[in-house]
Amino acid sequence: MIYLDYQATTPLAPEAREAMLRWLDGPDGTGFGNPHSPHRYGRQAAAAVEVAREQVAALFPAGGRVVFTASATEALNLAIRGCEPVRAGRGIAVSAIEHAAVWDTAECLPNPHHVIPVDAQGLVAADPPIPDGTGLVAVMQVNNEIGTIQPMADIARASRAAGALLLCDAVQAAGKVPVADADMIAVSAHKLHGPKGIGALWVRDGVDLTPIVTGGGQEGGLRSGTLSPALCAGFGAAARLAVGRMDEDAAHVAALWDRAAALFEGWTLNGSSGRRWHGNLNLRRDGIDVARLMSDVRTVAFSAGSACASGSGKPSRVLQAIGLNDKQAKTSIRLGFGRYTGIEDLEEAAAAIVAAAREQG
Ligand code: PLP
Repeated sequence: MIYLDYQATTPLAPEAREAMLRWLDGPDGTGFGNPHSPHRYGRQAAAAVEVAREQVAALFPAGGRVVFTASATEALNLAIRGCEPVRAGRGIAVSAIEHAAVWDTAECLPNPHHVIPVDAQGLVAADPPIPDGTGLVAVMQVNNEIGTIQPMADIARASRAAGALLLCDAVQAAGKVPVADADMIAVSAHKLHGPKGIGALWVRDGVDLTPIVTGGGQEGGLRSGTLSPALCAGFGAAARLAVGRMDEDAAHVAALWDRAAALFEGWTLNGSSGRRWHGNLNLRRDGIDVARLMSDVRTVAFSAGSACASGSGKPSRVLQAIGLNDKQAKTSIRLGFGRYTGIEDLEEAAAAIVAAAREQG
């Protein structure tokens, strides 16, 4: 089966797997320690966590700290619910195409709520209107459904001018494109060839956060709960690899994109073609039944929309935000590829999808 669903999750890098094994039990059986214990087992595990923290920190600018969490969803919740302006009741402004981890969290808070629109290309304006009283702006760097890359430097400037903090969901961006200028940045290991079950929030020095998970006071009191050294080590190794290979991975993805563009004649691209992570090909074709297409093309793993939204039966909020009607949104598919995808995989997958779509008439 050909895996083309890199936005849902990415294959574990062999280097990340190798780094994790030592901290499951280890060759001498001492790798299972609790990193918060004071004895030798614990100290070894704690040292591994700190090495991993440094490696993950290389994804971010200087002048902040990395807080490990169980997922990017938790990191985003910590940022939104825990930051001082939101706790003080100030407004939250989110882009219309945020992931549910941001969108639903902002929606369920009592604070004034503003939606920053995107244009038909899936892009936020360089100088988005931010209402008075806004305390937190949340804009994702790379969209998970259509791959568009937002003008983060401009958005950071506008947020600062409005006196608001900027939260960036960099889940689909980290290790792939240069880091955004923001006050808080959330990432997830499994989207950059690390393990599932661990994410992180980078917090700029001076940003005041209150924990949303209380207990043993780990992570400097910001996120209680015993850390998994194996997950941290896998995340660290994956981050290190991604930083080191950023140009090489991007060049590979660009070559895949160029080939893909020629394979889907007659299909329409959703979202900007230029301002986009080119490992995301979101396409539509009039009249196709996507559920049928997915069941006919059994040799390719791909998505009918975002992995989180698919199965809900609801048309994608992101595709609606760029102006697609329900019919157009429901005839869209998302192909995601990257480091471990070969050109021949893409060609074989495209041939199968295109042929199955033609069969539908
Ligand atoms: N933000 C974006 C853009 C995502 O694509 C995802 C996962 O699909 C998340 C947040 C949530 O990440 P996690 O799976 O680590 O909770």
